[in-house]
Amino acid sequence: MAAFLARSRCALRAQVAMVCSRAMASKTPVGFVGLGNMGNPMAKNLLKHGYPVIAFDVFPDACKEFQDSGAQIMESPADVAEKADRIITMLPSSPNAIEAYTGPNGILTKVQKGSLLIDSSTIDPVVSKELEKAVEKMGAVFMDAPVSGGVGAARAGNLTFMVGGAEQEFDAVKTLLTCMGSNIFYCGEVGTGQAAKICNNMLLAITMIGTAESMNLGIRLGLEPKLLAKILNMSSGRCWSSDTYNPVPGVMEGVPSANNYQGGFGTTLMTKDLGLAQYSATNTKTPIPLGSLSHQIYRIMCAKGYAQKDFSSVFQFLREEENL
Ligand code: NAD
Repeated sequence: MAAFLARSRCALRAQVAMVCSRAMASKTPVGFVGLGNMGNPMAKNLLKHGYPVIAFDVFPDACKEFQDSGAQIMESPADVAEKADRIITMLPSSPNAIEAYTGPNGILTKVQKGSLLIDSSTIDPVVSKELEKAVEKMGAVFMDAPVSGGVGAARAGNLTFMVGGAEQEFDAVKTLLTCMGSNIFYCGEVGTGQAAKICNNMLLAITMIGTAESMNLGIRLGLEPKLLAKILNMSSGRCWSSDTYNPVPGVMEGVPSANNYQGGFGTTLMTKDLGLAQYSATNTKTPIPLGSLSHQIYRIMCAKGYAQKDFSSVFQFLREEENL
């Protein structure tokens, strides 16, 4: 049985290698499912690198906007799989990914043998492993490759990708991902990309809340916000949330706090990622007191009307709480 499995994995690898060498020679089409805040600029970067893109999104307006950029739009993920043997998915959460892969019009209903399926959504690592099994049964290969960097990095093509899956496929995946990102890390088996991503976002939530708290306290103590940010950014409190994505309006240009917290990384998505961290921590009996508290704070924010705002709006939330 073990020898049989090893032989069929070898045959699968040979098929994927063939698909990828064909693709490299001629830039054959790449499928893209999920054209939202992140998927849209990522898929546009594939187009810029000369890859024809065959795409689908359940939201018709997202398709229309993308069609105007020169992509071919399909009626379902299944139709994308019929036309492309390398597909990237960029979906909000685990249920959306399950639907797009295994639903009645999902990728797996028409996937070609030897296809390479890369999921860049942030989802539960357990779900990634289940998808891997389902994909392998159809004679294709699944990798998880969630991203860090946000919409700005997606536009600029300098996302960080955290990749999980068979190491032999990493070079093939990297060829595509370098069109959209500048740091591509191999993490280990399927699910480890998600694990790295969840840890990063838990830390991000904690530092964002911490930055918002500190800035708010400093302002209350009479400090001018820009000066306080400058001091923090030259001191040991400095972090990405303080020096690149400051949550206080007026401190920085070109960040969501300068635009009434529009765009960027939604509070709902951060809440989802903290839920994944909480679930993973429970499963592995890992204490995450600050991660758990951050999860509760973001859940309350969602219930109080912040769901669609950028996650840095925790600053505004704290100030409103204070006014109460
Ligand atoms: P988004 O909600 O803007 O876009 C997701 C898109 O997927 C939407 O257009 C939606 O219509 C589409 N969709 C949902 N279900 C579908 C299905 N079954 N088939 C086809 N399309 C479907 O989300 P986003 O901000 O682009 O984030 C995507 C993923 O990337 C999330 O998992 C998020 O956690 C992660 N992420 C986001 C950011 C960010 O800054 N926005 C940064 C890093 C990672």
